[in-house]
Amino acid sequence: MNRRKFINKSAVAGAGIATGASLMACNNLSTSTGDVDNNAFAKAQKENIKKPSPIAICTWGFSGATAKAGELLDGGSSALDAIIAGVAVEEENIENTTVGIGATPDREGNVTLDACVMNPEGDCGAVLAVENIVNVAALARKVMEETPHVILAGKGAEEFAYEQGFTKQKLLTEERKEAWKEWLKTSDYKPEINIENHDTIGMLAIDNNGDIAGACTTSGLGYKMKGRVGDSPIIGSGLFIDNEVGGAVATGMGEEVLKTVGSFLIVELMRSGMSPQAACEEAIHRITKKGARYKDFQIAYIAMNKSGETGSHCIHKGFTMMKYQNKKNENISSSFYDTKNS
Ligand code: ASP
Repeated sequence: MNRRKFINKSAVAGAGIATGASLMACNNLSTSTGDVDNNAFAKAQKENIKKPSPIAICTWGFSGATAKAGELLDGGSSALDAIIAGVAVEEENIENTTVGIGATPDREGNVTLDACVMNPEGDCGAVLAVENIVNVAALARKVMEETPHVILAGKGAEEFAYEQGFTKQKLLTEERKEAWKEWLKTSDYKPEINIENHDTIGMLAIDNNGDIAGACTTSGLGYKMKGRVGDSPIIGSGLFIDNEVGGAVATGMGEEVLKTVGSFLIVELMRSGMSPQAACEEAIHRITKKGARYKDFQIAYIAMNKSGETGSHCIHKGFTMMKYQNKKNENISSSFYDTKNS
């Protein structure tokens, strides 16, 4: 049986959601020239997948963020509009010490923010180490939509923000300044697992059209070196979307996510037929199998596929994922790798 016939057959046979195995079979078949025909794979996927009702998921227990995104999605907003508004809830939340205004500074007392976004067309935008701007995910969207570039960093990103009408705001609050002064007494840089129990916000959404978008926004690790950038604004590491397959987003020790390009890995594993849950588990395994160092840091991934299945997995107990669908906004405890030490 030639490959196209096989795909047509599987599309006809697959009423409802295709099994991972059949999609994997499609993916592994190659053309007469030996190249994998991704268009045929995508077509087979599209024909087999039922559109779910809109969903928004995000890292940690940021219920206000998924509620906001969910309300917009239910009202017919695009996935991209919904996630930008959703993550803005946390960027503007002064109590959140790891995102937006009120975030923890670097070791020199400067609050610098990182963010990225990705749309269903596969375009992306990111800003790195930006000061004085609260809504950096919206700024990353502007980079994606209004410039010929993907990434703007530091002063350039800040100046671009003002050109785009963003207002200058002081991000370091008195409370965070006092905590930083306290920290300076020892200057002990030691990120602690789940210590604040809320962290970077990464969000994925699927809208009424079945299109997926994502965003990730953070101040990075508290008391980081000046100029340090983590995984969160790096496409493929902190976030990756492929609208034919699904999306993934990360939180936790960014250096380790960067070394394994975690979010891209998860999307590629889903492309080859893995569920979002199994793909998140494999991405965590790529980190933990490197040796015992994982005992000292937390990493968590969340993922969603085109048919609306979601998954999450982390190294240590304590990570949760918010999920909004059909007016239900739930905080779901994630499965975790380290059952011995957690
Ligand atoms: N991943 C972020 C970073 O390394 C921090 C976090 O999610 O806690 O910058």
